[in-house]
Amino acid sequence: MLCPFCHKDSNKVIDKRDNNETGVTRRRRECLICTKRFTTYERIENISLHVVKRSGKIEEFDREKLKRGVTRAVKKRLIPESVIDEMIDDIELKLLNRKTSEIKSTEIGKMVLTRLKKIDTIGYLLFASVYRDFNCIADFEEAIAELKHVTST
Ligand SMILES: [Zn+2]
Repeated sequence: MLCPFCHKDSNKVIDKRDNNETGVTRRRRECLICTKRFTTYERIENISLHVVKRSGKIEEFDREKLKRGVTRAVKKRLIPESVIDEMIDDIELKLLNRKTSEIKSTEIGKMVLTRLKKIDTIGYLLFASVYRDFNCIADFEEAIAELKHVTST
């Protein structure tokens, strides 16, 4: 942080105020070289997540869109909305804690599958059929075999 007067990088914070509404932190600083005072403002950037689609297209992560996709896939299973919300919250939190801001849509799909497996087996298969693009009975059988494998271990 350079002093606007003498351009030296040596100062101390003499006052700090957070504005929780705007997310802006205001700091009153005093230059240790020329002793003049100045104010800095710091804003926390919104963390944005980018989803890399199978096509290679990059989209902003959209929680509601993910929720809609999951809800649509498992709508026949009557999974309570609160359970789906909890699942999406959990996924979102994991994504925000990652070091990178880019994630493949297939990875998000896997995260959904891992969680659905514990919530509802049929829901898991329904989502898997959409997400993995099942084309034939063999695909289903394969998923069911995987499921048996996972639940038995
Ligand atoms: Zn100065």
